[in-house]
Amino acid sequence: MFTSKVYKLSPVFIQNILLSSRAFIRKKLRENKECEQLTKELIAHDYDSEALKQYQSKTLKNVLTEAQRNIAFYQRFADDINTFPYIDKAEVNSNKDRFLSPNKSGVVVKGSTSGTTGAPLSIPQNMQSVITEQAFINRMMHWAGIEHNDKRAWLRGDMIVPQEQKKGPFWRYSYFENMILLSSFHLAQKNLDGYLNAMQNYGVKAIQAYPSSIVTLAKHLESNDTYYQGTLKSIITSSESLSKEDKALVERRFKCTVFDWYGLFERVAAIASCEHGRYHILTDYAHVELLPAGKAENGRDRAEIVGTNFNNSLYPLVRYKTGDHVLLSDETSCPCGRVFPIIDSIEGRMGDYLIAEDGQKVHILNHIPKGVDGLIASQFIQDKKNEITILVVTDKNKFNNEQCSILTKNAKERLGKSISFKIQEVKSIPRTKNGKIRQAICLL
Ligand SMILES: [Zn+2]
Repeated sequence: MFTSKVYKLSPVFIQNILLSSRAFIRKKLRENKECEQLTKELIAHDYDSEALKQYQSKTLKNVLTEAQRNIAFYQRFADDINTFPYIDKAEVNSNKDRFLSPNKSGVVVKGSTSGTTGAPLSIPQNMQSVITEQAFINRMMHWAGIEHNDKRAWLRGDMIVPQEQKKGPFWRYSYFENMILLSSFHLAQKNLDGYLNAMQNYGVKAIQAYPSSIVTLAKHLESNDTYYQGTLKSIITSSESLSKEDKALVERRFKCTVFDWYGLFERVAAIASCEHGRYHILTDYAHVELLPAGKAENGRDRAEIVGTNFNNSLYPLVRYKTGDHVLLSDETSCPCGRVFPIIDSIEGRMGDYLIAEDGQKVHILNHIPKGVDGLIASQFIQDKKNEITILVVTDKNKFNNEQCSILTKNAKERLGKSISFKIQEVKSIPRTKNGKIRQAICLL
């Protein structure tokens, strides 16, 4: 809708009405009695390991039975999940129709993965799946202490303000949801105070944001040595990776807890952080296996997330290799009391990496900008073996030649002395069509 001519050409107040009406219909479809009931059931799992285990094994059994019965790809496998093969995006892409259930009923929604690694994958979902997903989102809101009528800010990839628009306001309102939606596509430095004021003036109690968008605002606050002026219950982030350092920075500058959610469009795994900052694998959302994948620099064991989705009978994926990695934790219980297993952290999306001088792929680039003053945002682009361009958005009062050399020094330490780095100042980092920011783009 947001890219339609009618929306783009409408005055702001009509845009508010259009997007409010759309949100109203979506809300009615998703948040029905069934969703409410399921949300309650999910919340009941939080502190009850027996209930969780029962739900988990019952659901997994159903998924495998249905898959064998209905899905061409799975007909030759037995009841035990260990007899199912690992699959990945490429395999699903080349067998697209063989994963589709013939039992189509009701509304079918189609969506696709971002395609940062390999070809994008398109996956159909039934309404049941959409409603179940909503119940999990509701539980996350419950974890974050957000109540039904709390005013919220939404700072994600919706193109609510046409990209070509250069003058504000860069936000719109969804009346029935008590929500201010802010554009992730217009976060140029000169606009950032406006964003913060808009959220403060509207009196939001919570913010749901892409990590790259909320981190941009937090860095802006930090560089001005100030804090968010409103009172927030919490911030929920998802859809991009969020480093521990950035999470701490956002919590400090916005004076509230960040609840980070890892999920993916294939719906084969979900991991959520709690108020004690631990990442919990949501074992009622999907069946997750962690395949050993070597050791991280800090000595922790690394594992690949392999998941079986519980909530899409139209397109079930069993033992799907996500290509995303986590670092394992020694902790077996969390001070929050929830019974879900704990991991230490989620590593960056494996699609984003650079190639070091020794030919190794380097995925974790978070600490390169560390200690560089006045650096608001950055992106690494490698189009030659020995040359990397760093796009930077800076606070001109602080980012000087000295900061430039720290940035280059950090990058060389990580990627190799023979690589040359070109620092290029830009107004904002280009976003993908979903409004996300990629940390690194390797074109080799
Ligand atoms: Zn916890």
